[in-house]
Amino acid sequence: MEFIDLKTQYRDLKSSINARIERVLEHGQYIMGPEVAELETRLAEYVGVKHCISASSGTCTLLIAMMALGIGRGDEVITTPFTFISTGEMIALLGATPVFVDVDSRTGNIDPAKIEAVITPRTRAIMPVSLYGQCPDFDVINAIAAQYGLPVIEDAAQSFGAAYKGRRSCALSTIGSTSFFPSKPLGAYGDGGALFTDDDQLAKAMREIRVHGQDRRYHHPRIGLNGRLDTLQAAVLLAKLERFDWEVERRIQVANHYDNLISAACPDVMTPCIISGATSVFAQYTLQVDLRDELSRALNESGVPTAVHYPVPLHLQPAFSQLNQGVGTFPVAEAWARRVLSLPMGPDITEAQQSFVVDALRQALRSIA
Ligand SMILES: *Cc1c(COP(=O)(O)O)cnc(C)c1O
Repeated sequence: MEFIDLKTQYRDLKSSINARIERVLEHGQYIMGPEVAELETRLAEYVGVKHCISASSGTCTLLIAMMALGIGRGDEVITTPFTFISTGEMIALLGATPVFVDVDSRTGNIDPAKIEAVITPRTRAIMPVSLYGQCPDFDVINAIAAQYGLPVIEDAAQSFGAAYKGRRSCALSTIGSTSFFPSKPLGAYGDGGALFTDDDQLAKAMREIRVHGQDRRYHHPRIGLNGRLDTLQAAVLLAKLERFDWEVERRIQVANHYDNLISAACPDVMTPCIISGATSVFAQYTLQVDLRDELSRALNESGVPTAVHYPVPLHLQPAFSQLNQGVGTFPVAEAWARRVLSLPMGPDITEAQQSFVVDALRQALRSIA
């Protein structure tokens, strides 16, 4: 079996995906073709915000969001150390400093109770990540941000389709940023991403930055970059939206079924914790286990692919060594990095495959004990 099965989805959607791609090949508008605008309209409606600005990746979207907010040298952005590199990387690329805050031991998301203590006169934004597909407690984060007049950027690369208190991920803060990397909950057949906001001015700035800071052809009021989404990727995403609601439902069902199987067969294993008022789209279904590396090896040997999201928190990455935050600085994030193990997950995984995975898990636990 595969860690993430994308082939069944393609088989299901083949005729619409192929037709959509063929239409692009016929009209030939590969850059900013009509599918890009169509996708942006559909996604803005889905998320429930005024503006969607598509872009070339979920890394580029973070960069564009922070550029639109004017973040640069000497500024500080508060974020989590337990995330994919992009989150901290784009802060540093702009010459700003990522200010890490340890994570909540239940969810692995930024711990809102620890944010206020690190706010300084240089703080320019708070950038939480909706890890594994679940949003952190945005009511608390937004209240702190409002008190200090700070914008909030949600790194929703893993959570497109998730809900928090009746609203969708990407609609919960000043700017929402997501990724369409193929293995994300809404994945393209290449790189892609999108930004969401209700703020007209920020939307205009992000649209300009996406295309070399231009407001009309060859006229550049600001510095930008080439951050456009390919028309072909927009076409693929439009076809994939056809069954996206079903996929979100399936992801939740699959996770519930894993929860039940695992709590019966392996009661010592900690299954994902979803906070009240939130749903997860389970970009990853991630357990916490003892002897993680031994367990992962045993599972791989019995034919169950696994992954570790993430083995090294950002403050311990060589790229951030100048921050001088050694082992012990963020103990909860460090414990998660030692203990997390993600199982095969996706809308098309079958109950038989899930039983096979949990059987292998039970046996692997016994073999390494
Ligand atoms: C995947 C991911 C990104 C980067 O998205 P790309 O489209 O691969 O550039 C950023 N942040 C988080 C939390 C991610 O999981």
